[in-house]
Amino acid sequence: MRLDNYINGQWTKAEAAASLDVLNPATEEVLAEVPLCGDAEIDAAARAGQVAFDGWRRTPVVDRVQPLYELKQLMERHAKELAATVTRENGKNLEEAMGSVRRGIQMVEVAIGSPSLMMGQALEDVARGVDCMSLRQPLGVFACIAPFNFPAMVPLWFFPFAVACGNSFIVKPSEQVPLSTKLIFELIQDCGFPPGVLNMVHGGREAVEAIVTHPIIKGVSFVGSSPVAEIVYRSSAQQGKRVQALGGAKNFIVVMPDADMDYTLDAITASAFGCCGERCLAASVVLTVGDCHDEVRDGLLARMKKITVGDGSQPGIDMGPLISAAHKQRVLGLIQKGVDEGAKLILDGRDGDLPAKGFFVGPCLFDEVTPEMTIAREEIFGPVLSISRVKDLDEALTVAKRHPLANASSIFTTSGKAARTFQYEVDASMAGVNIGVAAPMAFFGFGGAKGSFFGDLKAHGREAYDFYTDRKVVISRW
Ligand code: NAD
Repeated sequence: MRLDNYINGQWTKAEAAASLDVLNPATEEVLAEVPLCGDAEIDAAARAGQVAFDGWRRTPVVDRVQPLYELKQLMERHAKELAATVTRENGKNLEEAMGSVRRGIQMVEVAIGSPSLMMGQALEDVARGVDCMSLRQPLGVFACIAPFNFPAMVPLWFFPFAVACGNSFIVKPSEQVPLSTKLIFELIQDCGFPPGVLNMVHGGREAVEAIVTHPIIKGVSFVGSSPVAEIVYRSSAQQGKRVQALGGAKNFIVVMPDADMDYTLDAITASAFGCCGERCLAASVVLTVGDCHDEVRDGLLARMKKITVGDGSQPGIDMGPLISAAHKQRVLGLIQKGVDEGAKLILDGRDGDLPAKGFFVGPCLFDEVTPEMTIAREEIFGPVLSISRVKDLDEALTVAKRHPLANASSIFTTSGKAARTFQYEVDASMAGVNIGVAAPMAFFGFGGAKGSFFGDLKAHGREAYDFYTDRKVVISRW
């Protein structure tokens, strides 16, 4: 089945000749054929968005959120089907997939509050008889570019807020996982949005290049790896567009000797190996402070040995496959590099009882990892956890601060002083205290720091209203 785009309220055949197979990463079964669209399709979507914008921005915000109420209801009704689609195309298990669907629904719920959240400010008598107010106005057509790891959630970080503000929108799903977004658009078509307000165009790099250079598109929300985030940020900014580009991660977890160890080790195991490590918030390097190293290592090892690996659509499976054969090769290459550079591989997920088909790698644990090793520097985005010994919290913070990426970082401790020092000093913009995955909350902003984020206004929460609107100041005397 070759997938269609959704442009101007219609399912539309792609003009692009090139396409890719969409695979179930657990079985290698071909699920669909995704067209690799480019200028023509993005242009059609941008024009449809531009035409729709005039009427949509004049629609009162209380009316603009009505289709989002519908979308919330439809997503609730189809949540199981959505989760199953996420599992089929991405590989994460059904429980993880359902978790991501629920977080997506929360975005819609928060955006429904836009009549309050979009309010401006006013001040009477800024001079005698002169009043002043600041209004938020939508800008036009926005687009989002999504990664493969949360297909039913990441587009929802953006479009509900953008369209509630009165903009029109183009979603470009990851070409590796287009089916969850397709299903969301099948629900969107019944929600009552006017044609052209919400559009979806499939594709990869060519579609992204068409988005960042298109003169109608006013702003771009990107989520993916840091090298591509930086390209999208620079090229969009050069074209005068607003841009927020969320990039990759290398997340450090600090364990203090006073931590509640059972709780801590369960949380780190879930953080590192949930979604097969394909999360921008996954624990990657554990820094053990003082004398807790051996207890942490042994406790993690014992828990990791119990992780069941297999097709995430089946009951009892903790960890599904990686997304593709190419990504599996990359992860295996990094594991080998860890061994070659002298880290101690104490659990080797390349061995063992893995399904014959599918892109599976079992959990891997490296000990005696030093900051200069490749596995301590590069984002692996797979089921590989490293442990390093540090003497105190200062040294742990120094190691984390030296890394160019700063998406998320957590501390496990029962000391309020250590927790306060950590949250004050750490660079990462998602900081966890006794939390393994400092996850995005729909009502707060979300995005990394340093090389994990390019831009200034982050995703969702109140920051979405700054990103998707312009503020006009009106000064009046009557
Ligand atoms: P990716 O950068 O390969 O792809 C992201 C998007 O960019 C896709 O839609 C893809 O079609 C497009 N793309 C890929 N290469 C391109 C190129 N050269 N030029 C233009 N566009 C291109 O990322 P991915 O592999 O899909 O996702 C995994 C990455 O995303 C990881 O680095 C992960 O940390 C990151 N991520 C970050 C967050 C966050 O919130 N910061 C959330 C999820 C994923």
